[in-house]
Amino acid sequence: MVSRLIILIMVWALTLGGVVHAAPETLEVSEIAPGVFVYIGQTALMTAGNDGAIANVGFIIGDDAVAVVDTGGSVREGRALLAAIRARTDKPIRYVINTHAHPDHVFGNAAFQADGTSFVGAKNLPRALAVRGPHYIEAFRRLMGPELIDEVRLIAPSILVEDRMSLDLGGRSLTLKAWSTAHSDCDLTVSDDRSRTLFAGDLVFLRHIPVMDGSLRGWIGDLGGLAAIGADRVVPGHGPVSPWPLALSDERRYLDTLAHDISGLIKAGKPISEAAGAAQSERGKWELFDDYNARNATAAFSELEWE
Ligand SMILES: [Zn+2]
Repeated sequence: MVSRLIILIMVWALTLGGVVHAAPETLEVSEIAPGVFVYIGQTALMTAGNDGAIANVGFIIGDDAVAVVDTGGSVREGRALLAAIRARTDKPIRYVINTHAHPDHVFGNAAFQADGTSFVGAKNLPRALAVRGPHYIEAFRRLMGPELIDEVRLIAPSILVEDRMSLDLGGRSLTLKAWSTAHSDCDLTVSDDRSRTLFAGDLVFLRHIPVMDGSLRGWIGDLGGLAAIGADRVVPGHGPVSPWPLALSDERRYLDTLAHDISGLIKAGKPISEAAGAAQSERGKWELFDDYNARNATAAFSELEWE
């Protein structure tokens, strides 16, 4: 009798454990303005341990529908974002907007494939996904393991932004803008007009060193246009939600320093192998400096030596 009771308790405990485990993990989002929710990613590289949840992702709820801005670094993260949305609203997700092609922003897309959901991106995004996407999947399959990466699908946008576009969520409009090559070659920003919140994607970094995968001159050239966007706060691609346009100042200083130091090396006739020594005055001001500065500097050297 006692043993039967113990078995019953064990079965009950296992069932309960199973139920808890099977419940979808939910991203811890905060409401930074009415109807605007953000998950702040870890400042880290994508690993199996963090599910690739290193970029900021978010969603905006209008009177009729929801828009998602970036989906995270794995389908598991995408599902957790979806669970966070469903904990707050049952309105349909009309748009999934990708700010650019990098894995930490698009690998969660498959969690949002549904009738009535359109994917949206800059006009260059389909090409970037087609050219780079398979390499990203291969590389991150090795780094993060097949369990997380095999379910990733490269979902190209069906709505393309040439320059500017407005999306309607019912009583709430989003203004999208595609930028010339800067952080990457397919950067897109999203402004929520009602709350004056700018989702800048990786055109804006805070704390996390800026990562340059496009054009240094192009990025510096875009800073004026970015600063002119009428918004009260920014959700950067990486780093905390911050006042706008004050949030640009650290990034501007880093990019200017990089350009200045690299131009100096080129003028002095130094080889590209010395590029990694640039912008050392910025060390200590950024997280992940040693993971990205040398790569930024080498790319900047290749770009600027042709000027
Ligand atoms: Zn990026």
